[in-house]
Amino acid sequence: MDKQHGYAGKILRVNLSTGDVGTVSTGNYFDRFLGGRGIALKIYWDVVIPQIDAFDPENCLIFMTGPLCGVPGFAGSRWQVCGKSPILNQFSYANLGGAWGARLKSAGYDGLVLNGKADSLVYLSINNETVELKDASHLKGKGAIETREILKDELGDSFCVVATGAAGENMVNYATLLADSDSSGSSGFGALMGAKNLKAITVSGKGKVEVADKKAAKLMRQKVRELKYEPFIWPTTLPQERMEKDICFGCINGCMRVKYHPENRRSGKYCCQSAGYYEVRAQRYYGKVTDVPFQATKLCDDYGIDTRAVETLMMWLSRCYKAHILSEDETGLPLSKLGSLEFIQTLLHTIAFREGFGDILAEGTLQAANIVGKNADRYITDYMIKTGEDSPYGSRMHITTGLLYATEPRMPIQQLHEVGLPVLLWALRIGGNSDTLLKNNYMTSEVIRAISKKFWGDEIAADFSTFEGKALSAVKIQDRQYAKESLILCDFSWPITHSPITDDHVGDPALESQVCSAVTGMDMDKTDLDKFGQRIFNLQRAVLAREGRTGRASDTIEEFNFTIPLKAEFGNPDCIVPGRNGEVFSRKGMVLDRQKFEKIKDEYYAIRGWDVSTGLQTKTKLEELGLDDIAETLQHEDLLV
Ligand code: SF4
Repeated sequence: MDKQHGYAGKILRVNLSTGDVGTVSTGNYFDRFLGGRGIALKIYWDVVIPQIDAFDPENCLIFMTGPLCGVPGFAGSRWQVCGKSPILNQFSYANLGGAWGARLKSAGYDGLVLNGKADSLVYLSINNETVELKDASHLKGKGAIETREILKDELGDSFCVVATGAAGENMVNYATLLADSDSSGSSGFGALMGAKNLKAITVSGKGKVEVADKKAAKLMRQKVRELKYEPFIWPTTLPQERMEKDICFGCINGCMRVKYHPENRRSGKYCCQSAGYYEVRAQRYYGKVTDVPFQATKLCDDYGIDTRAVETLMMWLSRCYKAHILSEDETGLPLSKLGSLEFIQTLLHTIAFREGFGDILAEGTLQAANIVGKNADRYITDYMIKTGEDSPYGSRMHITTGLLYATEPRMPIQQLHEVGLPVLLWALRIGGNSDTLLKNNYMTSEVIRAISKKFWGDEIAADFSTFEGKALSAVKIQDRQYAKESLILCDFSWPITHSPITDDHVGDPALESQVCSAVTGMDMDKTDLDKFGQRIFNLQRAVLAREGRTGRASDTIEEFNFTIPLKAEFGNPDCIVPGRNGEVFSRKGMVLDRQKFEKIKDEYYAIRGWDVSTGLQTKTKLEELGLDDIAETLQHEDLLV
């Protein structure tokens, strides 16, 4: 490839069965798919046979960075892991922070594609051009954190490490992988590492990313820093004096990401959902603030278990215990001690090592409920989605998010945040907890309407009493987010939808394209970048169609959205949203209207240029997006209208 600024220029490929190592040029991909999710999807399309099982050695594990990775000051050094997830046996993705992605780029690679399966447990060592598979028998059964520490001791601190714990080795369906700064990735990719006999990937490199226009990049860095609001502190009951900011490589000004220092114990990350998943239960159990929630997070990270999956699992276990469907004797779990350290230790250990009842739980909550029988599945049907995750920023509350959930292979947190966070800020302001998440909270109805006009296509999208404008806003959000996931910009900083310093407090949707232009030298404006997003989203739709997720019949959300009235929303117990003209409207007690939801699906398909009655993609639209090759395959497989 001709050297393109922002890219290392090649993608590393390693066959774990044969040990063969090679590279492909990033130039084969970036002009159509940019980086990150986009390039990962195209590689997946090219090499993963749609019918294979996630644990088949020929399934690929794809690690991708984007063109901004390694360039400081933009929060653009996130990295993606993609592949066929064992959870639904279909394509999925995870997004991680820390520094591993930037280090891979320094080693000279924009990405890494793994296929095959090693004969015995190995780790992959990448040190610039030297790429080797090494024996990892001494790491067998070790936690991901411990593995990272051992490998850093052996190799030196210049190496970044991504590893999986015992849950990954034992192919627990929702096993995670964990990198430096305890950055973790879900979608069951830890289990894929286990299936490939791969314990860890270490990477070290000395290269630097070349920026096309250093002056423009400097100005953009300054502009972004000025516009961005001050990061908030994660609202936790754990003592703030034990928290220390833990910022990923190349960030703008950090976020709620912190490291917690417990008394006399090893520190670790504590923020966001993974921090909250055991906090309420632990406080209820102990009747006071303890560092048990922190230990619970750390245990999940070390075993390699997804905290979201555990959160939904615990809810089900607790309900089944109360309904006398499951007992302590039968499960070997101290179910009466839910909230205690003993409970979470026992639960995670039995799952990670697939011991006793843990072997059933390792398959996932829904699968476990089906195995248990006794109608145990009725205790998950009001909160859990197909992937075993919960459903934050739900559809009954935000409407738009129904379309986002319906068209994604997993809970799409980045997309949900774009709608859910401004609404939450608005509700906190109304509710008198104004500054909890935003200093001098300025998120009035006027501001949210102005955001809606600029970012979501029309002011009406910010009226959450109606279905009007929601289809267009879903499309706008997805296109922006798919470009973002390909650059890859961090969700805790981007998009900058609002700002403390602009007159109307509205941010700027063109910033991402300007940053991309400055770094890569590509001539790109917002429309061009949105088109990348649209193309990449369409490619993902095509990938999923080949795996059996075809059109309208697959674009569904869980039944509880239509049947069970909304009780409360995170941080917003009265479920208030901006209504017509910004007046306060409560969605408490409401369900989603099924007919209206199908109607906005029609609208959504029409805006997307897909067939309205079936939701299938069209040749015309795919060709318009430069996806002629994809259209040809889909047509051949009878997956177009
Ligand atoms: S905003 Fe937070 S999560 Fe994102 S790159 Fe910065 S420190 Fe990491």
